[in-house]
Amino acid sequence: MALLHSGDEARGKAWQDVFARELPEVEFRCWPDMGDPGDIRYLVAWTLTRELIDSLPNLEILFSIGAGIDQLDLSIVPDHVRIVRMIEPGITTTMTQYVVTAVLALHRDLPFYLKEQREGRWSPARTLLCSERRVGIMGLGELGRASLAALAPFGFRLRGWSRSAHAIPGVECFAGADGLEPFLAGCDVLVCLLPLTAATRGILCRDLFERLPSGARVINAARGGHLVAQDLLDALDSGHIAAAMLDVADPEPLPRDHPFYRHPAVFLTPHISGVTRVETAVHSLIANLRRELSGLPLDGEVDRNRGY
Ligand code: NAP
Repeated sequence: MALLHSGDEARGKAWQDVFARELPEVEFRCWPDMGDPGDIRYLVAWTLTRELIDSLPNLEILFSIGAGIDQLDLSIVPDHVRIVRMIEPGITTTMTQYVVTAVLALHRDLPFYLKEQREGRWSPARTLLCSERRVGIMGLGELGRASLAALAPFGFRLRGWSRSAHAIPGVECFAGADGLEPFLAGCDVLVCLLPLTAATRGILCRDLFERLPSGARVINAARGGHLVAQDLLDALDSGHIAAAMLDVADPEPLPRDHPFYRHPAVFLTPHISGVTRVETAVHSLIANLRRELSGLPLDGEVDRNRGY
């Protein structure tokens, strides 16, 4: 029984050593040295090629290196292959830090003050308390819930939106299409932590921005495909949206002449919010394989119909 790692060579070598120590019953192979492809039951990858998938006749489970699976072309993966996304403390910790940083930066008007600094102006504005600001998170999964827990001690008024109903102490929860409008109406800061699916692509658009209170701030730390860039630029230029912090773009890297680089109300980072940590992710992968070998449910198994 073997697992094939496809991707960063250094990570593959490092994980191979850990597997040899901690899970020797699963032989860890690094692409392109796959040995007999018939042995390979598990594949760990960030992206796929048809050639790779077609070469693995006994593949059972595909593990994504990242928390999302939208970068994987699942149309080339046979239906019986189970898909598992990465849930590991490195991603959760870094994303939580990013969301707290972004919410505080926009709460304390840092894009505005940066612009004032660049233009040689000294112009203090009124400062709101956290308790006067409503922060809403779209997506109440692993990362949305962890981010809400990290924001709670600051005293923000918290709300969240998801597909199915959730109950989270200290968080006003909304669900489904009917819950979206009332959720948005109370978001002074909106954070997108949704998976990118057919239902969520382009969700951060003109119609959504219009439903936010005037002066709202927007953070996208999910995927570039969630955002309609021109709609955000229009909403920023009209003043309806005061500022945005974006960690993801479409395409990535964003072309050098894209207006996001120079817009005074946009704070842009290059997809660094939630980072899979080589040192911790391997233990999550091993723990998941142990669950599989014991017949237990896998952590992060994706429902292929739902798309996440
Ligand atoms: P998750 O645990 O699968 O949670 C997804 C959440 O989104 C769930 O609460 C789900 O609702 C909700 N959702 C899905 N489709 C929806 C829809 N159509 N309408 C309303 N709510 C919907 O995912 P996660 O681990 O928190 O990660 C979320 C995403 O973050 C990933 O898919 C990835 O794209 C992104 N990410 C980005 C980075 C980065 O560096 N930028 C890093 C890591 C992850 P239910 O609870 O009802 O199922």
